[in-house]
Order: sequence, then structure tokens, then C-alpha cells
Amino acid sequence: MSQEPVAGAPHPERLRITEIFHSIQGEADAVGWPTVFVRLTGCPLRCTWCDTTYSFHGGAWRTIDDIVAEVATYGARHVCVTGGEPLSQKRCLILLKRLCDAGYEVSLETSGALDVAPVDARVRKVVDLKAPGSGEFKRNRWANLDHLRPHDQVKFVLADRADYEWARGVVAEHRLAARCQVLFSPVHGSVGPRELAEWILADRLPVRLQMQLHKLLWGEEPGH
Ligand code: SF4
Repeated sequence: MSQEPVAGAPHPERLRITEIFHSIQGEADAVGWPTVFVRLTGCPLRCTWCDTTYSFHGGAWRTIDDIVAEVATYGARHVCVTGGEPLSQKRCLILLKRLCDAGYEVSLETSGALDVAPVDARVRKVVDLKAPGSGEFKRNRWANLDHLRPHDQVKFVLADRADYEWARGVVAEHRLAARCQVLFSPVHGSVGPRELAEWILADRLPVRLQMQLHKLLWGEEPGH
């Protein structure tokens, strides 16, 4: 016997969505590609430097069919599922699979606090490791490192020299550069990109410096 969903409760195969938009990928391996972003609502973390706090609340329930249909209208090859923390909604896994099945190059931006093991293997995962300056260091789910594939990326967002030194130690201890790409990104307005570049070069680190291209292009304007 099928049951009608309770009014206001999430219906199966629906996700709470903050926004869907078409822009240039500003980060990670697919940087520079025209990309459709699907931003899911909600995040259990509160990073001190978070630039998407507007995704914590609100949003609208949309069916996965409806989301996939809107993505198709932009005619892009790349789709990035982001948040908030997209994996805080379990049905995100269904969306990721549907997008892969439809032939897109799919990436997932995740905080690193939730289990990435069930994510479709075709998805390029961009997994944060939260440095002490984020205030969410204790949320790092270290077991996620065992589920990294060569096409995945680990991202460190660094607020100061102490964060950098912590990240440098983690890269060495877990031999991260041998497992996947490692991205170091400065917190906008806290660490100068040139300063971070010089630290990386001085230490001969096997990591990629990451600038937020969309911020160079559009600043803090929403929708990018
Ligand atoms: S995990 Fe991401 S969305 Fe959540 S608080 Fe941190 S930076 Fe913001």
C-alpha cells in the first residue's frame, strides 16, 4: 500500500535545493569549464570562513527528475554538485548517479565530514580536509582517505601559516599526493595567494595552488 507523503515532509527522490546556475568552474580539476552548479541546502558544519552561509537554510524541494531536466537546459558537459554539504541529504547519491548515467562529467564538493564511500565511482570527489583555522578540524572523517581514487581531489583551505604547516604535515603523513591531486587554497582576504605560492615552492610541495577563479571574475556576486 502506498502512502501519501506528510504535508511539508520530504517526498522520496526529492532534494532541497538552494540554487541551480550556469557559470565557470572556479576551482579544482575542472577549473575554467562552463559548468552547471547544483547547490543543495543545508550543512552540519560552521567553518569560520564559509562563503556560502546562505545555503544553510531555506531552499526549495525539487524532484530529482526536475533537477536533471533543468541541468540539461544549459547544454554543459560539466555538472558540479555542491552545498552546503550535499551529502547531508542522502538522496544526493541518487542525483549523482542519475547525472553520471546521463553522460555528464560530474564533480562533488564535500566537506570531508561525511562518508564518501557510497558515492558513485564515476564522480570526481573534491574532499575538504578542514584545517584548524576553519574551527571544524575535529569533523574530519579520516576514513574518507581510503576511498580516494586518482581522479579525486583533496582540498585544504588555509587561513594562515599554522594551517599551512598542518596541511603540509598531513600531505606527508598520509602520502596524499600519491593517491590523488592535492589542492591548497588561501582563505580570501587572510593569506595572500602569492605568499602561499612562495611557501609551496620553498617547501617543494607536490600540491596545486588553487585560486577561486569565479571570485576574480565576479567577486562575491551571487549566482557564480
Ligand atoms: S562545510 Fe562548506 S558549506 Fe559547510 S560551513 Fe564549511 S565551508 Fe560552509
